[in-house]
Amino acid sequence: MNQQEGKLIIFSAPSGAGKTTIVHHLLKKIPNLEFSISATTRQPRGDERDQKDYYFISKEEFLHYIAKKHFVEFEEVYSGTFYGTLRTEIERIWAKGNTVIFDIDVEGGLHLKRKYGEQALAIFVQPPSLEVLKERLAGRGTDSPEKLKERFEKAEKELNYAPRFDIILKNYELSEACAEAERLVKDFLRK
Ligand code: ADP
Ligand code: 5GP
Repeated sequence: MNQQEGKLIIFSAPSGAGKTTIVHHLLKKIPNLEFSISATTRQPRGDERDQKDYYFISKEEFLHYIAKKHFVEFEEVYSGTFYGTLRTEIERIWAKGNTVIFDIDVEGGLHLKRKYGEQALAIFVQPPSLEVLKERLAGRGTDSPEKLKERFEKAEKELNYAPRFDIILKNYELSEACAEAERLVKDFLRK
């Protein structure tokens, strides 16, 4: 690892598993962790804010960044909707001496793990079952019926990716999952 580089913590899971909730908990509890703000072409949801939760950009802008090779990784996570990690985002966080923490889909998470190897800790958040995942996603109340269907279908496939991650973190009881996540991340940062 050269001096400009640091560590990365990757949280991946199907939509609704609880990764955003757990990542927000860690950001409050562990100093020097900084959230990697992804770029996306989807519209803001609920109280999400530009440049805090995402860089909300147009499809044209996204395609321009792809052509200019500005992304470390990107995916068309849902049909017509792109998400990606900008190289400048990781550099910005490392330049401050901070560790980057990601909330990213399963393919994107594995992509980053392959790229950064031992510098990265890749955690898969596992819900108790597909049924509970569906209840959580519907209960969040942020997606239209069509969007929910698309997310459910993708979730079913994504659950099979769990064994490819460094760690599977069960998110059954939320406070237990948060405590375990804190322990895992602190251990990794001590190494
Ligand atoms: P993701 O970021 O993986 O899509 P979220 O963090 O948005 O998932 O969680 C989905 C919904 O489930 C949210 O409404 C959240 O409050 C809820 N949730 C998360 N973890 C638990 C848990 N262990 N038990 C019950 N509800 C949970
Ligand atoms: P949401 O629309 O619920 O915020 O995110 C949908 C999915 O896209 C989630 O699984 C989220 O983790 C993932 N995602 C967010 N940012 C990125 C990114 O930069 N790259 C990839 N590959 N996936 C992302």
